[in-house]
Parts: sequence; structure tokens; C-alpha cells
Amino acid sequence: MHDEFKEKLIIQLAPTGMVPTKKDTPHVPITPKEIAADTYKAYRLGASVVHLHARGEDGRPTYKKEVYEEIFSRVREKCPDIVICASTSGRLYSDIDQRAEVLELGPEMASLTVGSLNFPSDISINSIETIKDLAIRMARRGIKPELEIFESGFINTAQYLAKKGYFKAPLHFNLLLGSLGSIPADLRDHVYLVESIPRGDTWSAAGIGRYQARINVAAILMGGHVRVGIEDSIYYDYTTRELATNERLVRRIARIAKELGREIATPADARKILGLNARH
Ligand code: ZN
Repeated sequence: MHDEFKEKLIIQLAPTGMVPTKKDTPHVPITPKEIAADTYKAYRLGASVVHLHARGEDGRPTYKKEVYEEIFSRVREKCPDIVICASTSGRLYSDIDQRAEVLELGPEMASLTVGSLNFPSDISINSIETIKDLAIRMARRGIKPELEIFESGFINTAQYLAKKGYFKAPLHFNLLLGSLGSIPADLRDHVYLVESIPRGDTWSAAGIGRYQARINVAAILMGGHVRVGIEDSIYYDYTTRELATNERLVRRIARIAKELGREIATPADARKILGLNARH
């Protein structure tokens, strides 16, 4: 029998994303100050990685590194050792220099979607050339890519590019299940993706919308890691439509992990698990 519980659990907070607005939920953190405050609350509950998107003063997503810079410095001030994973999403801007601007700030990790897909209201376009270009820019700065996986074919692409030298092992995958246009959030789909990941690589899982908690719990049970937060799910309870806060979402998953007997990783543990060069 495998011991799925021998590795500590990395809780990654995804507090903001590109989609939720204050109109959708007053709890989504938009300003650098709000994002840092939510990250701090999650950090105290056991979040060791934070996946960051920036928003402009109008609340809309922005790629500007000045905004990211303020977010990073506020986050680091409150959570000095948390692992920062910046988004390079091409969902709203396709220009590669814009998508890569945040990499100039040298976050430890950055997301990289290794394929294209439809979202309910827009399209994420990532050609092989774009993926290679972002991979090179990350490698040059020693930034570890978090490979965003929306379909099993994305895992093949990542493995092909690793073989060609674009990614260095061990790879880290984030599985996103349950969005319209991605792989569904059925348990069999989740298991299928996990079994497609080469041994020695690491993975976490995020369930979109109503699937957040159940995908997180399945990941805890299968020995993976979790991504949790308002980016993926604005409701705490989809039946009653009770709105979530990032703090409550993290508290729920940390509590369940502890009750199931899975220990929670500190940022130092997370760096070891992910093979990051300690900068702290
Ligand atoms: Zn994101």
C-alpha cells in the first residue's frame, strides 16, 4: 500500500483570480492591501504558497509589474517566507511581453498553462511557441513553473517539453477540474489525471466553483496538494449560496486535512517538496 499521507500537505491560496468582482462578492480582495491581508489570514492557517493576480484601480485584471510589485512587497511584509506564485495567464491579454512582465520581479514560481481551452466567457490561448517562450523566460530567472492542467493532453505537452529541455524535473502540476470547457470534476477524471503524472513529479488540485471542497479533499486523500480560494469559488456553500471568504475556505480545508491525519506543510516544507531553491 502507498502511504499517501507521508508527505505534508501544501495549501496554496488563490485569493483573487481574474474573474470575481466586488459586485459578485464583497469578499474578493482586489487592492494590494486587501490581497496581503487575506494572504496573511490564510498563512496563519497553514497556506504556504500564494497564487497572485493583480488588479488595477478600476478592479480589472492588469499585467503591470508595478501593481504586482506592490502586492509582492505587502505580502512579503506580512508573510516573509510564503512562496509567491505569480500568474502569467493569457486569458485577457495575449501579448507575451505583457504576460511575462511580472517575471521580471523574480517570483519563486509562476503559473504556466500548457494548452488552450474555452472558459465560459472567454478563451485561454497558449500555443506551443508561447509556452516555450514563457518557459525560457522562467528558466532564465530560476522561476519554477506551476503547470496548469485543464485536460490530460496538457500533461503530454508538459512531458514533451520537459524532454526537450524546457522544464526541469521534478515538474509541478496544478490540476484544474470542473470548469465548463475543462476536464469534469468527477472522481474518475481526477484519478485519471493523477495516474497520468510521472512518479517523482508533484501535483496539486483545484476544483472550480461548487467542486472546490470535494476536489481538495480527494487531493488530500490521494497524497497531492490543494489550491483553495475565491479565484476558483466565490461561494462557501453552493446550495445556500453563502458567500465565501478566503479565510473560511482555507480554514475548512486545513481542518479537514488535520482531521484526516494529513500534516500541513510550512513554507520551508513546501520549498523542499517542490524542489525550490530556498531564498529565505
Ligand atoms: Zn490564477
